[in-house]
Amino acid sequence: MKDIIVIAIIVIIGAVVMISAIPVERESKRRLQRYWNRMCTGKEWRRRFPDATKDEIRRFLETFVDGFTFQSSQRLKFEPNDKVMDIYRALYPSTGWPDASEVETFARNLKREYAFDLAKVEDPHVTLGQLFMMIRNPNQRRHPTALIAPLVRRNVGRAEKMKCRCAEFSQPLRTMADVRARCDAEEMIAATLRNTAPGDWRSVRTCSVCGALWCQEYPSGEMHGGGAPCSYRIDTDDPDRWLKETEYLTARIRERDDEAEFIASLGEEVGPAACRQNGCDRKTIRHSVFCRQHHFENIRAAQKRK
Ligand SMILES: [Zn+2]
Ligand SMILES: [Zn+2]
Repeated sequence: MKDIIVIAIIVIIGAVVMISAIPVERESKRRLQRYWNRMCTGKEWRRRFPDATKDEIRRFLETFVDGFTFQSSQRLKFEPNDKVMDIYRALYPSTGWPDASEVETFARNLKREYAFDLAKVEDPHVTLGQLFMMIRNPNQRRHPTALIAPLVRRNVGRAEKMKCRCAEFSQPLRTMADVRARCDAEEMIAATLRNTAPGDWRSVRTCSVCGALWCQEYPSGEMHGGGAPCSYRIDTDDPDRWLKETEYLTARIRERDDEAEFIASLGEEVGPAACRQNGCDRKTIRHSVFCRQHHFENIRAAQKRK
């Protein structure tokens, strides 16, 4: 009889633990899905570390997935910008849930493979890419915290050793081609930028190396997830006010670009009649009494009246 009661209690406890684990597991599955949904991230790694061999990248990611008990085949689901703690939090969405020492195992792997001490990295937001960089660069390994944002800010002398790309990308954006090229360079530019004044759809950021101010916008804000961000240099001593009072540069460039495209699509000014607009000596386009520009301006005026 006693045995039966003991067994019953064990079964009940087991059931309670299992049931209470279901929502946590579901949340974890949901958060991890974001990584599993990705295509191969090999391109990201090679773009960020063009001089690293495939083997180097593979070996590093292997120490990571092994520590986190993911499949070896899942290693190229993780990007250089992924924060170690975000992945950990995806595995364990509720704090206090007993973990399987993933971070510790990862740390042990790093020590064994690279003699690298993860415990010395103080930044809770450290990314896989930053770790890989520290492991590869012996100078940074001697100062494993040199890349960590709060220390960089505190220690200007050391920060100067870190190079920023601000000067290289300081040309103003004028055309959509400029915007697209800038979006492509975003990763290089953003490497030293920290948020100063976050806003909706854009934020003011400061370079932690040279102090330059930047605005980061999402030119394709209507795309799912906002599309690629793109940054340009600004000048202000009141970033919050700047955000409120300045129009969205990339949105304006896009509008102008769309307009130019539309005007071009109106075709040649074949005439033979002259544009009806006073003082305009251009010829009319087909099916209109105006030249290209004035035809467009009339349409826009009509739209505004609506
Ligand atoms: Zn800079
Ligand atoms: Zn005209």
